[in-house]
Amino acid sequence: MKALVKREAAPGLWLEEVPKPEIGINDVLIKVKRTAICGTDMHIYNWDSWSQKTIPVPMIIGHEFVGEIVAVGTNVIDFNPGQIVSGEGHVVCGRCRNCMAGRRHLCAHTSGIGVNRPGAFAEYLALPMSNVWEHQSGIDLDVAALFDPFGNAVHTALQFDLLGEDVLITGAGPIGAMAAAVCRHAGARHVVITDINPRRLKLAKVLGATCTVDVSKESIAATQKKLGMAEGFDVGLEMSGNPSAFNALLENMCHGGKVALLGIPGSDIAIDWNIVIFNMLTLKGIYGREMYETWYKMSVMIESGLDISPIITHRFHYTEFEQGFAAMNAGEASKVILNWD
Ligand code: NAD
Ligand code: ZN
Repeated sequence: MKALVKREAAPGLWLEEVPKPEIGINDVLIKVKRTAICGTDMHIYNWDSWSQKTIPVPMIIGHEFVGEIVAVGTNVIDFNPGQIVSGEGHVVCGRCRNCMAGRRHLCAHTSGIGVNRPGAFAEYLALPMSNVWEHQSGIDLDVAALFDPFGNAVHTALQFDLLGEDVLITGAGPIGAMAAAVCRHAGARHVVITDINPRRLKLAKVLGATCTVDVSKESIAATQKKLGMAEGFDVGLEMSGNPSAFNALLENMCHGGKVALLGIPGSDIAIDWNIVIFNMLTLKGIYGREMYETWYKMSVMIESGLDISPIITHRFHYTEFEQGFAAMNAGEASKVILNWD
């Protein structure tokens, strides 16, 4: 089969002929139909310092996908060939305290597809049945390919009650913009999103942000005044990993405000802890998606009319993958879909 492989410890990716994966008794074999490019794939493509210490070569990369089941292991009774599925890319140990208690997203021994084990940028992917999520029939395949990053947005956005609340999202990357869509869908009043990239802010508005703030030109405090908000934001979602964005978010929360942190900082961030303490803020770190409550919420929100498709800015055949990675590197793209049909 064909796959996009990190063949050498150097920048780039190689389209190669590799053996089709064999499935174990508990696995399903998926014929990949669409994949999406993630920031993680860009790190691996560009071979930054994180990738150099994390990714063993050779490695088939990629973890955002949708496909069709073509074979199942002898133990698998809940899945059948023909089903359209995505998969949770974090394969958990199943034996640690959290796994045993059903809190699989808190497993301390996860292995990631396309990072630690063969990934989805390939014609076929073998996955344990416990990692498979079946889509509702008729789902748009491009949207289905986004369930991994969409899940990051949903997991973060739904941490705290949103109905009637005012939400501040820092960072209008693909995940921040999808989180804006989720917050609106879930009944928030103001959904204010910040960035320094006008193109990304514009797209976030299309997805559902009620107000955008280019923090290189205006302040969040001035925006609050404009909106007639007297007491600060009820819920904050940090989705940039940027130190000044995180600090600005803390400064603009109401007393008792709740903050979920998804953005990954490049290095240590200093914050004013007095704000956290005296304003009695709640800070919660978020990683991945909940298995499988997040996946359930994603499916039913799509079913009830949530449209995240505008986040897709580019579509290519997998043989044109270099164009997709170039669009991401140029900062032109939000989500890029690769078609494997
Ligand atoms: P992204 O890098 O595409 O988006 C981040 C956005 O933040 C960019 O649009 C950037 O312009 C913006 N930004 C930079 N400085 C800013 C500032 N001062 N104020 C406001 N915005 C600013 O990333 P993404 O794919 O949308 O992911 C969002 C974040 O979540 C990233 O940090 C990513 O590494 C992280 N992430 C975390 C998990 C997890 O499980 N915790 C999973 C996926 C992604
Ligand atoms: Zn575990």
